[in-house]
Amino acid sequence: MCITDPFHVFLAGLPEGGSRVEADISDSFFAAVGESLKGHFRVALDIVRLGRGFTVAVKAEGTAVAPCDACLADVEVPVSNECTFTLSLDDLGADESVRVDGRTAMADLSWAVYETIALGMPTRVAHVEGGCDSTMSEILRSHSGRAEEGEGNSPWAELRKITQNNQSITQDGTS
Ligand SMILES: [Zn+2]
Repeated sequence: MCITDPFHVFLAGLPEGGSRVEADISDSFFAAVGESLKGHFRVALDIVRLGRGFTVAVKAEGTAVAPCDACLADVEVPVSNECTFTLSLDDLGADESVRVDGRTAMADLSWAVYETIALGMPTRVAHVEGGCDSTMSEILRSHSGRAEEGEGNSPWAELRKITQNNQSITQDGTS
């Protein structure tokens, strides 16, 4: 069985009303959809059918493993997200995140599952303060030239540098 199989849904065969598909996914799922993300998630698809129309709610909850923005070592990020979209048997393929087999009308919702997780990822993935791989952050810092991205242009950071310089001058003077 392919890891994405639970998310292949034969829409035309679904009964009127609500249906639920639940599955646990891990690294092999992300590999199957061609993405480098890792982690493990519990995924639930709630599909409500009304005639030839469907409302699909994708819920994903779990932990993603992605490289830290600061030190590139893997960091675990809790992710919980939900996306809802509609499909129609008369207009299958209108939604880019759903691939439909034209012959069997089998809809592949695995990309929609991936997108739900990807959209739930924080914009910045990083270890908690002090949790970074110190050797790696040191190397990256020496290559990037300017320390602490985002803080580099802040007037407060500049002010802090001046204050620190003054302190070291004072210390040098007294020693
Ligand atoms: Zn880190």
